[in-house]
Amino acid sequence: MKKVKVSLTFPPSKVTFPLMTLLVRDFGLEVNILHADIHLNRTGKLIVELSGEEESIDKALQFINGQEIKYHLFNGMLTWQEEECVHCGACTSVCPSRALSMSAPDFYLTFNKEECLVCGLCIKACPLRLLHLAHRGNETA
Ligand code: SF4
Ligand code: SF4
Repeated sequence: MKKVKVSLTFPPSKVTFPLMTLLVRDFGLEVNILHADIHLNRTGKLIVELSGEEESIDKALQFINGQEIKYHLFNGMLTWQEEECVHCGACTSVCPSRALSMSAPDFYLTFNKEECLVCGLCIKACPLRLLHLAHRGNETA
């Protein structure tokens, strides 16, 4: 069993395409939608976690590639230079999954790797550039 996180970009003509149903039914994958930004007649974005046999995931990605839907496969990880963090909170405002968060009573930043989508949105948000992607994955053009 393998798990991958994938960003999917749908052209406006494909936002109603039942991709998730097909990934489950035809490729036997488990699909966990982590983040969705889908609207009719606009380019749509989904970040999903796919679980299944490696061969099935590879076939599913080939299928996606043939549907005019771009994908980016995240197989990297986000690193945080915690010791230099000033806990300003700027990165938390852009994090879609709340992997980066602050809470009472001290409002220190915490990073939950399990919740991270590896989307990279926090990288530019940090004024001290303390967040980095260790490795970028495959993607379709
Ligand atoms: S890469 Fe950064 S913004 Fe994206 S989910 Fe992970 S912590 Fe949040
Ligand atoms: S933006 Fe940078 S300095 Fe501010 S809390 Fe996040 S990691 Fe720390």
